Amino acid sequence: MKAILDHIGIAVKDLAAALAFYRDALGLDVEPPEDVASQHVRAHFVPVGESKLELLEATSPESAIAKYIEKRGPGIHHITLRVDDIDAAVAQLKARGARLIDDQPREGAEGSRIAFVHPGAAHGVLVELKQAAVSSQLAAVSDGLSAISRAPSAMALESHVQQYKLGNLELISLCDGFIHLDGGAMFGTVPKPLWSRRAIADDRNRITMAMRPLIVRGARTMMIDAGLGDKENAKFHDIYGVDRSRNLDHTLAEAGLSVEDIEIVVASHLHFDHAGGFTTRDASGRVRPRFPRAQYIARRGEWEDATHPHERNRASYLLDNYVPLADAGVLQLVDEDQTIMPGVKVRRTGGHTMHHQMILIESGGKTAAFVADLIPTTAHAPDPWIMGYDLYPMDTLAAKKQFVKEALEKEILVFFEHDPVVAAGYIREENGKRRVEAAAR
Ligand SMILES: [Zn+2]
Ligand SMILES: [Zn+2]
Repeated sequence: MKAILDHIGIAVKDLAAALAFYRDALGLDVEPPEDVASQHVRAHFVPVGESKLELLEATSPESAIAKYIEKRGPGIHHITLRVDDIDAAVAQLKARGARLIDDQPREGAEGSRIAFVHPGAAHGVLVELKQAAVSSQLAAVSDGLSAISRAPSAMALESHVQQYKLGNLELISLCDGFIHLDGGAMFGTVPKPLWSRRAIADDRNRITMAMRPLIVRGARTMMIDAGLGDKENAKFHDIYGVDRSRNLDHTLAEAGLSVEDIEIVVASHLHFDHAGGFTTRDASGRVRPRFPRAQYIARRGEWEDATHPHERNRASYLLDNYVPLADAGVLQLVDEDQTIMPGVKVRRTGGHTMHHQMILIESGGKTAAFVADLIPTTAHAPDPWIMGYDLYPMDTLAAKKQFVKEALEKEILVFFEHDPVVAAGYIREENGKRRVEAAAR
């Protein structure tokens, strides 16, 4: 089993005195406190590199922390090891006869799963095992608010259908599962001490990203992007940490739709995590369009780039995802910003790729935007949080500034294609701080 030291819990009797030492004398940053009501504990996390110290304050005499201090005085209470697979870890310990406090993993803070090992087994140390199965990108949603307001249940990875009404149009956010991409690459020039507050990295430094195609139902039924699809092999799945246990097939069915219902498919751009689902392999092994009745629409410049990749973008452009569409005669290339169906138009943003486009949806005086990789997750809302993958980051910056201004003025419902938790929300700005408020479905 591989494990990373997640944090060291320290039982604190006099919080003010503890802060005077850890915060003031040592000069460490202390995060806003988090209340764990069920345990009668308030936790103050102190980031130290990859790990944290957790100052634990009892909020009631019944608290285990209060009892611990009464018995032994303040001091180190537990250490927490983060593991990839807590079920496997617990099974392994049981097989070796190690005494556990929790026989089965249970729910911990922020959607994690935890299990305590008895100090008798761990030579006098209370050991907590933790599987951080979820990304903490909701932190971005509640940025500027107290951490207490984060609802742990809302932290879970969201892979279900989410429906929104926009005037006469119905917007249905689907999910093609999750991939894991390098956290450093996802946040470009933003240093890890900052981005790691908004996204938990695994032991390969990867963060969890969803793939969320969007259905627009109006005059016709349109799908925007289609996720990764099912053509990639085990090696690819390992590199990108693909989890498609719930995928587009499931969420389409959950939305009451089938592949035959899709009449138009629009591509934001042709990277594999957006265009992979455009095609599928049939029983004979031939790659063919996945949506048999659909007309596919892509930007001509993007098509040119995708069919003539260079060293920098080759890994992202897989020909099988879109060349079979042209071969089948179902691909239409557009040169300019234009209306695709009533209420839906494409607008080039550039930046991520030269011809990357977003999709603007308008009905009943309301606007929604599918911004794709312009703002891939809610954590990317601040201007300088730009992916290292972007070929033209200064263009991303300009396009993002322009879009956010518009989004604030017009109260645009923004779809975040890669956010693991929040499918859509509203960008807010208060006292120079930008955050995203998740939209009610
Ligand atoms: Zn991309
Ligand atoms: Zn992407």
